[in-house]
Amino acid sequence: MSPRVTTVAIAGSTGSIGTQTIDVVGAEADRFEVVALGAWSSVDVLAAQAEEIRPKLVVLGEPSRADELAERLPPGTELRTGTAALADLGTAADVCVNAVVGFAGLEVTLATLGAGKRLALANKESLIAGGPVVQAALAKPRAGHIVPVDSEHCAVHQCLAANVGGDPSRVGRIVLTASGGPFRGRSRAELANVTIDDALAHPTWSMGPKITVDSSTLMNKGLEVIEAHELFGERYGIGYDDIEVVVHPQSIVHSMVELADGATIAQLSNPDMRGPIGYALAWPDRIGTPFGRLDWATARQLTFEPPDHDAFPCLGLAYQAGRAGGTAPAALNAANEVAVAAFLDGRLGWSAIPEVLKSVLEGHHLGVADGVEAIVDADRRARDAARQVIAAREQRETASA
Ligand code: NAD
Ligand code: MG
Repeated sequence: MSPRVTTVAIAGSTGSIGTQTIDVVGAEADRFEVVALGAWSSVDVLAAQAEEIRPKLVVLGEPSRADELAERLPPGTELRTGTAALADLGTAADVCVNAVVGFAGLEVTLATLGAGKRLALANKESLIAGGPVVQAALAKPRAGHIVPVDSEHCAVHQCLAANVGGDPSRVGRIVLTASGGPFRGRSRAELANVTIDDALAHPTWSMGPKITVDSSTLMNKGLEVIEAHELFGERYGIGYDDIEVVVHPQSIVHSMVELADGATIAQLSNPDMRGPIGYALAWPDRIGTPFGRLDWATARQLTFEPPDHDAFPCLGLAYQAGRAGGTAPAALNAANEVAVAAFLDGRLGWSAIPEVLKSVLEGHHLGVADGVEAIVDADRRARDAARQVIAAREQRETASA
């Protein structure tokens, strides 16, 4: 008997994770089938993907070019538009890959869990900003469940699944690895004038622009500390003191779990997101190795060093926001999205990103994150605050020029 085919929906199909998900499905076509695709505004890429895959449904979030897309879709593919349709994308498949970038992914996360489906979660921002709301959605009867796609959390998921048997008393701590990004080893002073191109040149991973900038500031790792706390904290009794970050430039060890007796379990594989994507699609089964496997002749050197908190203050700010809890992670995430966009726009220096975040966090009125409205409100307030801080900096710079 052939195994049942798992149907897959991809929210954010035109991006880095989205297109790699299509690769995984193509390589394992006897077990996976993409039935729904959605993205924000990339009409050309969506049309090409639909032509190749012939899904049942395509969703375009930003509808201004919907007529043009409708004409280019193959017969039998339905087109829907708007953010509500994007959120609901995953409800018609067995697994929804949330590969949307940023806070906009929250609706996809909530709708997929609400429909009782598996959420293959790449969109960390939804979990970081909306943690308490996502936890409430997970606790509902017949809720779906999350299998992390983010490589570190996917690694931790694997280490826990293989060694802990669901018993939190067996877990000591989580050790997240960080590549260190393109600026590893540089001091704060040496980082004063880095450019957009410098920040986008990641040494080991090829990813979308937002997460690539986050990797250069170590904010990505900071967000991942909060993500790890949301995914594993309550379940395994893991507090922020039990989540450590270590820089590992080769990106082969994707993260580790230290057990109660100090024995440490690590997950190793090539730095290729198609591994974690395949894991999340197939879980608890395993895909094959269509994308190769570790070559021990080239992976001979695995090195580890502590992160430099002075040169990369974003990491500490994330621990601070995570420990504060409530709406603080939502505020940090929102301010970071605004600051990264301003940096990519050439309006904010790289070194000013943590300064903007610090200022927004200090001014943030901490609220209880007891519902979507509270989170959306915290997100909006922090975005406004970040824009004001950035505008004030620009004015000062124009005045002194
Ligand atoms: P990307 O920029 O390459 O792609 C983003 C996708 O989101 C696109 O399809 C775009 O159409 C869609 N999108 C953008 N704005 C949207 C909106 N407002 N509403 C709905 N859809 C919208 O991003 P990426 O690098 O693929 O990252 C996606 C997510 O995965 C991020 O949360 C990122 O942190 C996470 N992630 C990425 C990688 C990686 O290797 N790229 C690794 C780990 C985690
Ligand atoms: Mg990661």
